[in-house]
Amino acid sequence: MNEPIAVTPKSFKSAVKPIWCPGCGHFSVLNAITKAMAALAIDKDNSVLVSGIGCSSRLPAYVDAYGFHGVHGRGLAVAQGLKVARPELTVIALGGDGDGFSIGGNHFLHACRRNVNLVYIAMDNEVYGMTKGQASPTTPMDWDHSKLTPHGPGVRPFKPAAIALAAGAPWIARAYSGNPNQIAKLIAEAIEFEGFSFIHVLSQCITFCPEQTDWKAIVHERSEPPADSADQAARLFLADDGFATGVLYREARATWPPPSPVTTDENEALATLAATFEAQ
Ligand code: SF4
Ligand code: MG
Repeated sequence: MNEPIAVTPKSFKSAVKPIWCPGCGHFSVLNAITKAMAALAIDKDNSVLVSGIGCSSRLPAYVDAYGFHGVHGRGLAVAQGLKVARPELTVIALGGDGDGFSIGGNHFLHACRRNVNLVYIAMDNEVYGMTKGQASPTTPMDWDHSKLTPHGPGVRPFKPAAIALAAGAPWIARAYSGNPNQIAKLIAEAIEFEGFSFIHVLSQCITFCPEQTDWKAIVHERSEPPADSADQAARLFLADDGFATGVLYREARATWPPPSPVTTDENEALATLAATFEAQ
């Protein structure tokens, strides 16, 4: 009799070797994803990783599951369409801060409020890494390493967790690339949560922002339970220094699309679907 094949993180790694710079934070996220998939014994034939464009968006190629390396900023649009059409799939959307908060910023807002049951991992290194180090939506105002913004971008950085809350996301976590075990735990929890679950990962770009190695001394894991109401979460985020990790907010909310009455009549089904869209 054949022995059952052990489900290990390694069994979720593809044969493609990552071409990230040595020390890039995205390696940790890749390891965390495969670890979480192994821990939950996820069926790789029924799981899909969807990304946009950027260093972090290369990640689906490195996982042995289905993947879609899409158009810049449009990963969430593809991921939501896929999950609505094939609800039985485990869908993980991922990408970087430029991809998710600038080019794809509008998709991020509406994915939060629409609440399709999928996981979104934003690997935030506060820079456009693939295009050689320009300021992104999360770059600090005074970051002066880019020739394009030699005095710093001078623009207040985007606050991903607070914006996700304001836009209606029901599950929000923050993690740090220096703690892959925590990221794996959060990804597993996010997959099991029924709704749109957003993980903001502080994922260092060692090449263009070497100072991000200092994050190690600043990040801190929250010991308190997550906020369980938007009011409580808003108070938490007002006092947040941006480096608290763990699940920050969790609240059950109806997912989209709502269950539609079962019908075998095609016209009736289309009418129900149209009414659902109109109600949004
Ligand atoms: Fe990672 Fe930065 Fe290198 Fe891109 S440029 S692979 S984000 S370290
Ligand atoms: Mg980036």
